[in-house]
Amino acid sequence: MKKINNERCWTEIDLVAIENNCKIYQKLLPQNTKLMAVVKADAYGHGDVQVAKRLQNIGVSDFAVATLEEAIKLRENNIKGQILILGYTSPDSVDLLIRYDITQTLVDENYANKMAEKSSEVKCNFALDTGMNRIGLDADIPDYCEKVIRKYSTKLKLTGLFTHLCTADTFDSDAKKFTDIQIKKFETVVERISDLNLPYIHCLNSAGGIWHSSQKSVFARLGIILYGLKPDYSNILPEGIKPVLEWKSVVSMVKTVEPGETIGYGRTFKAIENMKIATVCAGYADGVNRLLSNKFYVLINGKKAPIVGRVCMDQFMVDVSSIGGVEMGTEVVLIGKSGDEIITADDMANCVGSIGYEIVCDISNRTKRFFKDN
Ligand SMILES: *Cc1c(COP(=O)(O)O)cnc(C)c1O
Repeated sequence: MKKINNERCWTEIDLVAIENNCKIYQKLLPQNTKLMAVVKADAYGHGDVQVAKRLQNIGVSDFAVATLEEAIKLRENNIKGQILILGYTSPDSVDLLIRYDITQTLVDENYANKMAEKSSEVKCNFALDTGMNRIGLDADIPDYCEKVIRKYSTKLKLTGLFTHLCTADTFDSDAKKFTDIQIKKFETVVERISDLNLPYIHCLNSAGGIWHSSQKSVFARLGIILYGLKPDYSNILPEGIKPVLEWKSVVSMVKTVEPGETIGYGRTFKAIENMKIATVCAGYADGVNRLLSNKFYVLINGKKAPIVGRVCMDQFMVDVSSIGGVEMGTEVVLIGKSGDEIITADDMANCVGSIGYEIVCDISNRTKRFFKDN
């Protein structure tokens, strides 16, 4: 790891941890299911090129992203194998898709038609809508799906078919039933077109890959769990899985405030006794969610320091009255370990009614990334 003493706000990405997580999941997946690494949104804020390279080095050869720019960036950084764009790309970008050998999702028949008018040379996977109502051919009408898939299997380089599970991380009987129905609908269409021998058949995301299965799913598209985070806060991840990202900052100054004094914009925190307050060099422009104001805490010297007052754009204040040894330059852990304490992105998300995915994706470009690779 590079020296980070001069930074005001940074993340530390443990590439050894992501490699270990990946190996654990490869063992847990059913034998006929391969791991596709989802590295969209800059690998959920973890650094797409570094993550993809590390996984490619241990044999992962299939990657998924959300945008054309993300896909091209991976190719230009020597990522081989399949790169699948999971959502919309303008059909006018077809030349780039072909030039960089990128596989494009077909969101519906109209889109497939527009794409086929541009070129027959672009690799594509059809999306199938099995109940999420986001993208895909309507799997409730298998005749229609079969007809469209057959038609475009001759007009485009159709290499696969996939669907997305929308409640695989939830375990009440309704959710379980819904997931079973989604998988069944998917398998029904897959069986009808089995003679086409499409190599990329996939219906499992993180939650699907570890808590459900499908005989027909050649791939599990794993995102969040590779990064050691949970699809849902209530989930328990398999033994040995570790969070990959730590998020840190430093104290810029420490002061005392007296009873009656208020802290920050809008004066939302009022001291009722003498307090020792530290100012932290991170704010919402770095990705610190403003809803954490007066509700969450950070770790300093192995202890919890509650956030007092509103999170500002570039700074926020914490109560360090009961923490010793805090001074200018002292390390502050927003996500990660300090002594025996730990804060995960999932904990932080839970506090603001969101999910770990959003917390790590929101860490902004101003926050520099450091990689630990051995
Ligand atoms: C983002 C995404 C995934 C990965 O989801 P995780 O819950 O992070 O595993 C898989 N498939 C599709 C279509 C996605 O959009």
